[in-house]
Amino acid sequence: MFTLLRDLRRLRRDIGLIRPDRGRSLAIRHVDAGSCNGCDHELTLTSSPAYDLQHLGLGIVASPRHADVLLVTGAITTRMQGPLLTAYAAMPQPRLVAALGDCALGIGLLGDPTEVVGPLDAVLGVDLRIPGCPPTPDTIAAALLTLIDNPPAVIPQR
Ligand code: SF4
Repeated sequence: MFTLLRDLRRLRRDIGLIRPDRGRSLAIRHVDAGSCNGCDHELTLTSSPAYDLQHLGLGIVASPRHADVLLVTGAITTRMQGPLLTAYAAMPQPRLVAALGDCALGIGLLGDPTEVVGPLDAVLGVDLRIPGCPPTPDTIAAALLTLIDNPPAVIPQR
């Protein structure tokens, strides 16, 4: 499905049609709050030529100050709760939060529960949920593109 969507976008570009996203783009700041790295690995694959998310307007940025979306992997550990909230506070408004993977969604937490705060929505409001353990690059790419193609009607102001 994602491949079809990508090829359709490329075809529109190649024949000179106006892009359906009208040039919009989103910058994503990824934070690993306590994952096993499985979700992070799959996320990295979405930057490969097979998915080419940058070309579709979705890019990973190094600083939360440049980010529109905070993308979180892993259950929220007590050690990462503070840095996660600091990154969120540094983002400009409007800002979105996405939970990537079952751990971030609170389904099957990893590790010692005394060292885990809980799922992401115990700490921040979640605008996009991407289930899976880990979700495939296809699933991740398609879910992130919905933020451009069908953005939330009202972007939360927190
Ligand atoms: S959801 Fe699965 S792959 Fe992702 S961090 Fe948790 S255990 Fe690892």
